[in-house]
Amino acid sequence: MEASLYIHVPFCRGICDYCDFYSVPAEPRDRRLDLFVDAVCTDVEDALRSPRNKAPRPLRLPRAEGSPVVDSVPAVYIGGGTPSVLGAGRMARLLPSLNAALPLSPQAREFTVEANPESADRGFLEACRNAGVNRVSLGVQTFHEPSRRAVRRAGGGDVLPSALSLVREIFGAGGASFSADLITGLPFQDEKILRKDIESLLAYDPGHVSLYSLTLAPGTPLKEKGGVSLLPPADEADRLWLAGRDLLLEAGYEQYEVSSFAKPAFRCVHNIRYWRMKNWLGVGPAASGTVIDDASGTGFRFTVNADADLWLASHERGRRADQDAEFLDALTLMKETFLMGFRFTEGPDAELFFKRFGRTIEETIPGVLEKWRNRGFLREKDGSAGLTGEGLLFLNSFLLDVFTEIDLRRGSMPCAKRRFH
Ligand code: SF4
Repeated sequence: MEASLYIHVPFCRGICDYCDFYSVPAEPRDRRLDLFVDAVCTDVEDALRSPRNKAPRPLRLPRAEGSPVVDSVPAVYIGGGTPSVLGAGRMARLLPSLNAALPLSPQAREFTVEANPESADRGFLEACRNAGVNRVSLGVQTFHEPSRRAVRRAGGGDVLPSALSLVREIFGAGGASFSADLITGLPFQDEKILRKDIESLLAYDPGHVSLYSLTLAPGTPLKEKGGVSLLPPADEADRLWLAGRDLLLEAGYEQYEVSSFAKPAFRCVHNIRYWRMKNWLGVGPAASGTVIDDASGTGFRFTVNADADLWLASHERGRRADQDAEFLDALTLMKETFLMGFRFTEGPDAELFFKRFGRTIEETIPGVLEKWRNRGFLREKDGSAGLTGEGLLFLNSFLLDVFTEIDLRRGSMPCAKRRFH
């Protein structure tokens, strides 16, 4: 079976006020970081070998002996949290163990590690490069100091330019191995500041840029402590994101997903697999994985409990940490396939869709495709359909149409009884 691998590092130097990822604060000397590195290797071995990943059932078998069930891992993504808080020494321990556990040579896969400027030092970046990491995703977010401070994000001073220069020096110019995240709609941001952020970033020539619009998730300090008053009004925030998008398009980046822009050939393989609902394994607190049986169009989602201390304590006792398992029936999986797939401008994988659900995308949602084709928001090729850049601005309305049509046609689908009940 082929699956990509996501490893969640649930630690950060400090917690940003807008963040709703699972992460806890940790200093570089925190003993939990050492324990994490030891435990993650055990879990990766387990995930690759467990027969639980071979088919939707059975759920909880003991660890298997013998050859890995997952025999191809085309993409690895270490995200978080902040993987760079692990530092050079721990990465030099973690990455070779990972490489030894994974099938295929490091050169044959995309291997991404996320880093934040305050901990992306020379030692960390060299340890990554020396162990076959071929893509670094740097959380830039903004160069504007008042905006960064207002959301209590770590960094400051010359930390950001020096991290960007190091990434370029160590991973090479040309951008293939370098992605950066920016946020629009931050406190105090206006179009002039955003333009400067984008120009400053593009001076380092990243091959890939993710442009996110700040969202105020419930429970985050920014939402709960009245930080909303610092933010641009919603329509201004929308305008800012559109202005940022246009600057990236003018600079030669192609928008290939809601928030993702890439120079030709520098798209993120791991994320495309995820949007196209291809199997992935998740390791680490709060990570989730999804394994799908193509023949029945059903699958399982495994989600590791979001508690780093419990996760570490379980491993210290030699036990696997708790995870929830959710059965995905064919109808749920079909809706998710559309939900995720239409984020990507090429849409869901048409061949895989037919294999899983026994019908084409056109047969499943003909009315929606007709309506959005007539509006000029579809791009179609070889049985696949995706939204154009302008169409993506209406993604929620489009998906509402998709779900409505699926529910209306559900009873008339030839495979309805077998697959959906
Ligand atoms: S660095 Fe990233 S993961 Fe960590 S708190 Fe900030 S936004 Fe969240």
